[in-house]
Amino acid sequence: MRILITGGAGFIGSHLCDVLLSGGHEVIAMDNLITGSLRNIAHLKDAPGFVFVHHDVTEYIAIEGSLDAIYHLASLPSPVDYLGMPIKTLKVGAIGTLNALGLAKAKGARFLLASTSEVYGDPLIHPQPESYWGNVNPVGPRGVYDESKRFAEALTMAYCRTHGVSTHIARIFNTYGPRMRLNDGRVVPNFMAQALQGAPLTVYDDGSRTRSFCYVSDLVDGLVRLMNSDETMPVNLGNPREMTILQFARLVIEVTESRSEIVFIAPTDQRTKDDPQTRQPDITRARTILGWEPGVSLEEGLRLTAAAFVQRLDVA
Ligand code: NAD
Ligand code: UDP
Repeated sequence: MRILITGGAGFIGSHLCDVLLSGGHEVIAMDNLITGSLRNIAHLKDAPGFVFVHHDVTEYIAIEGSLDAIYHLASLPSPVDYLGMPIKTLKVGAIGTLNALGLAKAKGARFLLASTSEVYGDPLIHPQPESYWGNVNPVGPRGVYDESKRFAEALTMAYCRTHGVSTHIARIFNTYGPRMRLNDGRVVPNFMAQALQGAPLTVYDDGSRTRSFCYVSDLVDGLVRLMNSDETMPVNLGNPREMTILQFARLVIEVTESRSEIVFIAPTDQRTKDDPQTRQPDITRARTILGWEPGVSLEEGLRLTAAAFVQRLDVA
């Protein structure tokens, strides 16, 4: 197959490039490098069947020749990024998704939207099944990301129902692994970089909020299975093992054998406004429809991530 990955130089996108290329497909990675990096795909530069295209998907997307599938990952998913670039976040979710869907329609390509657990907002149902409509504050600081993905989901379903495009929607829960940006602001790179450098781990507020962390190879496997399925309604992909952020901080310290302390801080910017209190995927649909469930334990995934971060931090 000839496959386009938007956001292909990002964290998840670059791992998806690896997997699809090793499966014998041709891959076009498209990215405007606003948060992604060519370093993530540098090892693929001369790989047969791989092309990188520097392009902003909010501009018309022109691809010559046939296209069998589009994984649409371009987005600004880190709270630090979407709080700092709210309009770009809305544009990539709305106009970028419109352009990618238009391309899928024109080429007769399958389409997968990388959506998010943030569509559930600060959830009132726990764990979250796909049937839950969510609890999102549209005018809060997180609204720019959450609503961009909710709009993207609605647009994807409209292209499916109106134009018969073979669409798929993955609701991705917190995913981590090598190639996350060290200064991305999300909890895994923050804690990992802090622990490896002996700096205090910055737990926001009292650390009682919960999250569930999925290793990137498990997630990518789920994305590929979903793309190759006939399922058009949203499917949660994530690891159901839930813990508080304080428990997570302790685990990162343990796995990295760090001497770091934990400090509790109350960020003065808006990053914890409307921060979901709990988050855990109900993956019943992924299990039954895709035969998928995560296989990498959190301890093992954190060890693999730490090994990659050590090289980049030069703290070995
Ligand atoms: P990332 O920031 O590493 O990757 C996003 C990529 O999109 C970056 O390379 C960025 O440069 C690119 N991009 C942004 N705007 C663009 C534009 N206008 N044109 C072209 N490229 C653009 O983030 P990630 O964690 O790899 O996320 C990938 C996808 O998965 C996103 O759609 C995100 O919403 C979704 N997701 C991720 C997580 C997670 O925990 N990592 C959770 C839920 C959903
Ligand atoms: N968090 C934290 N310290 C940090 C970074 C994040 O306590 O240095 C918390 C954050 O407030 C949230 C959780 O960790 O409750 C996960 O945050 P992240 O930014 O990774 O993504 P989110 O799940 O909120 O999209």
